[in-house]
Amino acid sequence: MKKIVVIGAGMSGLAAAALCIRRGHRVVLVEQNWMVGGCTATYWRKGHRFESGATTLVGLGKNRPVGWLLEQLNLPPLQATRLHLPMQVHGLSGTPTLTRFENLEDWIQEAERVFGPKGQRKFWTRCFKLSQFVWNNALELHHFPPQSLSDVLQAIPLFSMERVQHLPYAFQTVEQWMEKCGLGNHAVFRKFIDEQLMISAQNTANDVNLLFGSTALCYTNEPNHYLEGGMQQLSDVLKNWIEKNGGEIILRQPIQKLEIASKSISVIGKNRTWEADHVISSIPLNNLVDLIPSEISESWKKKIQPLDQLSGAFTMGIAYQPHRDWECIHHQIHLDSPMPQTGAHSIFLSTHPATDPRSDLENIRVGAVSMHVLQPHKKHIHSKEEIENEVFHRLEEADLIKRENVVYFHSSTPGGWEAWTMRKNGMVGGYPQLKNVLPWQMPGCKLHGNRLLGAGDSFYPGQGIPGVILSAKAAVETLD
Ligand SMILES: Cc1cc2nc3c(=O)[nH]c(=O)nc-3n(C[C@H](O)[C@H](O)[C@H](O)COP(=O)(O)OP(=O)(O)OC[C@H]3O[C@@H](n4cnc5c(N)ncnc54)[C@H](O)[C@@H]3O)c2cc1C
Repeated sequence: MKKIVVIGAGMSGLAAAALCIRRGHRVVLVEQNWMVGGCTATYWRKGHRFESGATTLVGLGKNRPVGWLLEQLNLPPLQATRLHLPMQVHGLSGTPTLTRFENLEDWIQEAERVFGPKGQRKFWTRCFKLSQFVWNNALELHHFPPQSLSDVLQAIPLFSMERVQHLPYAFQTVEQWMEKCGLGNHAVFRKFIDEQLMISAQNTANDVNLLFGSTALCYTNEPNHYLEGGMQQLSDVLKNWIEKNGGEIILRQPIQKLEIASKSISVIGKNRTWEADHVISSIPLNNLVDLIPSEISESWKKKIQPLDQLSGAFTMGIAYQPHRDWECIHHQIHLDSPMPQTGAHSIFLSTHPATDPRSDLENIRVGAVSMHVLQPHKKHIHSKEEIENEVFHRLEEADLIKRENVVYFHSSTPGGWEAWTMRKNGMVGGYPQLKNVLPWQMPGCKLHGNRLLGAGDSFYPGQGIPGVILSAKAAVETLD
């Protein structure tokens, strides 16, 4: 039995802590906030239940990361509703509202209706096949991204003809695949693809590789679920499991420093210190380096640089009276000109099924709006009001929410997001996909042998909830 301290109780920290306990280790999970969940937390304000960040959920099925985690912990299925329509996209210049159907054939027909028949079937059939390949193999790769020759050697028994055949797609960009499908000059389609990639891969078609880009683009072709009560359900299920099985969760305790010795690590918090055999840090890598400045080598500094390109998040919570029924709870609105101050080219709105009320008031729905703030370290948001007004204007234009029906709203800049999660520059998402950063050049989980391990969205190329669960799995398996 090892003594393990996990830093941060977002989705990756909760998953890492639970998996360590499952393996018989003693675990303390330390979180700076007053509640667990990080980017997946759900909170009450003024009688309404809002999401902090994540609203869409995939990966709940069998042999998918969330389903796998629940199975490992012998937990029953979550209270979840499968969405029959995963997403709608509005505002694509001169084209009608587009529906991202889960069924591939329905989706191809919809893409052909909106973008024209040329190249769509070829483009999406390949993307779907690749995304299925990634999903079907993700749980089997134990040392990814590989950090040493031994990681590669350990992966060799996993190599099959099919897997080797798919490797080249990691070195081709989505843009190159668009060109091969005759879609290179289709400006509206290109804008659609870029904005879909921005919300799932944190970058655009010219940089995102086809293997991961396909997974990002086809997440709507996986079963999408809504969790009753919001994303907090999953965090709470994990929190309760950890506490019931002997783990300790300490809230309101920001970790300020790590001192690494040959056989242990001192984890120094605001007013407490823990001695650990191993530490799993689930905070972003660019936050972690501030806790261990003398341990950071030149090669690690290079790996950290891409995180400077990440966008921050501007979010809004809106309580409103619906003026019509919606067929779908997730909406992306593409903009003909960038949002003032944030530079975002699209905004994302999520709400909830009417069957799961999230307000103390009758007939009131709760919506979450999010958008990227490009280059947040260079930007100062001087007027939240200007952005809020523009958001309401766009929501009215898409016939989603009428401003006169809004009973309460609040908004948060990257600074507010940083205060909530401590993520530097209020950073959204994880390690960006970049064509000149190859898999073995990405940060893997070993930061100091296996004494200090990293998990979370800056340690794993796949992002979002399934990606960070896989990152936790990779870190915990490195302890074995
Ligand atoms: C606006 C937004 C929308 C998103 N939408 C989706 C979506 O729809 N679907 C999806 O799958 N993903 C979505 N994502 C991405 C997903 O939410 C994140 O990638 C994922 O939840 C990150 O989990 P994590 O555990 O790596 O990090 P975090 O959630 O950031 O967790 C880290 C935890 O560490 C704590 N912490 C930080 N520093 C310290 C410290 N020094 N000491 C102690 N504790 C510390 C933080 O408070 C936090 O709780 C979204 C992200 C954002 C920002």
